[in-house]
Amino acid sequence: MATCQLCGEETDSTTKTKIEGAVLQVCDSCADMGEEVKTSSKKSKQKKKKKSKRQRKRNEEVLINDYGQEVKKARESKQLSISELADDLNEKESLLKKIEQQELKPEKSLAQKLEKKFNIELYTVPEAWDQETDSGDNRSATLGDVAEVKED
Ligand SMILES: [Zn+2]
Repeated sequence: MATCQLCGEETDSTTKTKIEGAVLQVCDSCADMGEEVKTSSKKSKQKKKKKSKRQRKRNEEVLINDYGQEVKKARESKQLSISELADDLNEKESLLKKIEQQELKPEKSLAQKLEKKFNIELYTVPEAWDQETDSGDNRSATLGDVAEVKED
């Protein structure tokens, strides 16, 4: 195990990479941001899949059609009343009601609060704009790494 000197992520192996003039031992994803420093040992690690950093621009995101239902469903699954949720988010109960009834579109800041709170997605990039040729990119987070973190 090594630690990425840029993002601090634990990773199996680091790559010596020149980033903005500094040479750092970084993880694979950070290595993409700089130039690999070739070491004497010829380790030709050929990466076929070059993942371009996907920059999700918030302004390309649109509110999903059934945002109200989504919020309601999420709220009910947590067994929260609207007033409890309003309290929690520091928002007006009447506002949340309107959102659930789809009478009002939540502002992004509020939508983000709801997204975080319930782990849902209210604003999304329409698929037509998100030109992904990859078929099903379902790389899940490395659970192994997470499991190693001891919480005492
Ligand atoms: Zn990193």
